[in-house]
Amino acid sequence: MSDVLVIGSGPAGLSIAAALGQRGLSVEGITAIDPAQPWPNTFGIWADELANLGLSDFLAHRWQNTIVQMGEDAFPLQRDYGLLNRDKLQSHWLAQGQHHGIRWHQGKAAEVSHSARRSEVIDQSGKAYSARLVIDTSGHHPVLIARPPALKPVAYQAAYGIVGRFSAPPIEPGQMVLMDYRDDYLPVPERPLPPTFLYAMDLGDDVYFVEETSLAHAPAIRFETLERRLHQRLTKRGVTVVETHHTERCLFPMNMPLPDFSQSVVGFGGAASMVHPATGYMMGSLLRRGPALARAIAQSLEASNASPAEVAQKAWQTLWPTERLRKHYLYTFGLENLMAFNTHDLQQFFTSFFELSQPQWAGFLADTSTLPEIVQAMLVLFGRTSNPVRWGLMSSVVSHGNLLRRTLTT
Ligand SMILES: Cc1cc2nc3c(=O)[nH]c(=O)nc-3n(C[C@H](O)[C@H](O)[C@H](O)COP(=O)(O)OP(=O)(O)OC[C@H]3O[C@@H](n4cnc5c(N)ncnc54)[C@H](O)[C@@H]3O)c2cc1C
Repeated sequence: MSDVLVIGSGPAGLSIAAALGQRGLSVEGITAIDPAQPWPNTFGIWADELANLGLSDFLAHRWQNTIVQMGEDAFPLQRDYGLLNRDKLQSHWLAQGQHHGIRWHQGKAAEVSHSARRSEVIDQSGKAYSARLVIDTSGHHPVLIARPPALKPVAYQAAYGIVGRFSAPPIEPGQMVLMDYRDDYLPVPERPLPPTFLYAMDLGDDVYFVEETSLAHAPAIRFETLERRLHQRLTKRGVTVVETHHTERCLFPMNMPLPDFSQSVVGFGGAASMVHPATGYMMGSLLRRGPALARAIAQSLEASNASPAEVAQKAWQTLWPTERLRKHYLYTFGLENLMAFNTHDLQQFFTSFFELSQPQWAGFLADTSTLPEIVQAMLVLFGRTSNPVRWGLMSSVVSHGNLLRRTLTT
């Protein structure tokens, strides 16, 4: 029997397994795929998030010329953005795991049961694995984590992207475009709803990544719609695709209900609803929150008679303390606002947002600000933004007041 059994070997699984191994725990994993199989997603992150963790070496690309575009004028963000070197990060965590004796078994976890001293997971072939604690990192639709039913349709971030060469640079060379919300690529009557934006970067050597992105919508915006809009947008700029190296279809939930914190299995990553509900980012959060979770689990397991339920309880508290829960409800309120805005309101909202001081907007996006700091930033934005946006925010207080109440009373 191992101390911890990790389900899944995506970024959440490999990172928490390595962190637990570093704490001297015996760790095994069950993974549906070879843990060394390259991850399919392109992971973007703010460069300072990695620098603050001493992990700058894990950037594959870094852009200083980072902008948002809400109207004709580009708004420089003066904050470096990067792409994670996912192969290097994956190899790093695998090597750490190997060093600490972590064993990965290929299989698909199917069920879990618990007794006073251990948890047992059965995979789809009927093989049983036991451990003092099970951590489910099997992604946004986890296999073992229980959640209360969603009270409203779940909103999805969806994106369709192309990495390739183009007849002309689709964005300024050397640039990274976090959001281009211009919708002038269609005549006014055909301007698209719900709004989507361009996320794009120069990868060097005349190769660019351009991605039409729906921040969040329920139901998810179809890939065909995003692909069509991307080509319409490029056509408007007089650009055609010359070579396609890779296409990315991105789809994941933004506002899944939080897990049931009384269960005896712990989640991490998408399985634990760790995606920032207002932005869709999660990698920085994984890197910041993993070590504290591993420490809490190691401490709980020091008591030789601790039950899975007791260890899991402590782990959930570490992952989701009250302040973080409150922020989560506030971000989810923010998401509801964003989904209600039309393109014009979104342009005005984001203009006001990026006119906040950089620590204010950066702390919101990376989820590193405290709750009072976020509230302060939102009040400043409310005071400075346009009347239609203000009105939208006030209407949201009525329609989604439950989220604000939970921010205050949780
Ligand atoms: C296309 C895309 C782009 C994204 N871009 C970014 C970004 O730029 N920045 C950012 O911060 N976030 C981004 N995200 C959001 C988030 O960071 C990713 O979804 C991330 O991959 C989630 O990591 P995870 O380890 O929780 O889950 P996953 O990466 O989904 O990994 C889950 C693992 O569990 C395995 N598994 C599933 N079921 C079982 C089972 N029954 N038994 C055993 N193993 C199982 C799977 O095979 C997989 O290996 C993106 C998401 C997508 C989909």
